[in-house]
Amino acid sequence: MSTSRELLQTLVGFDTTSRESNLHLIEFVRDYLAGFGVSSELVYNEERSKANLFASVGPVELPGIVLSGHTDVVPVDGQPWTVPPFELTERDGKLFGRGTADMKGYIACVLAMVPALVAAPLRMPVHIALSYDEEVGCLGVRSLLKVLEERPVKPMLCIIGEPTELKPVLGHKGK
Ligand SMILES: [Zn+2]
Repeated sequence: MSTSRELLQTLVGFDTTSRESNLHLIEFVRDYLAGFGVSSELVYNEERSKANLFASVGPVELPGIVLSGHTDVVPVDGQPWTVPPFELTERDGKLFGRGTADMKGYIACVLAMVPALVAAPLRMPVHIALSYDEEVGCLGVRSLLKVLEERPVKPMLCIIGEPTELKPVLGHKGK
């Protein structure tokens, strides 16, 4: 079983700057979930260089909760980093690395909870939705939404772990 910190270390290690492929990260998550008997659905872009991932735990015939995060990060070019951006570094009790807050930290926490979710008698499903190309205009998630729209059972709500200074933001003006 991996801790959220170990998972974050792995996730930060993948350079998923929006211009790069995110498949190495997605394949890692797919394999991790498979280790707990959770299967993933990948929704690729046209070039098959990037993918969204959707996975479910619990009774999928009921509306459930989506935990969602984007896998891409903004570039580090020309920025005065004092630590290697694609390695997790701890300093003064804080973890540094590109995407630790926005938003691989959330994804790591979600993934760390998977063994507990699998073991729990869930009364509604918990879905994990990871997207690509958020930082360049929320582009990647659209193909995933198209797939989900066609399902007979739609999720009840979605919790997106985007950093909002630890204050809940209950909606978005939309993209
Ligand atoms: Zn973000």
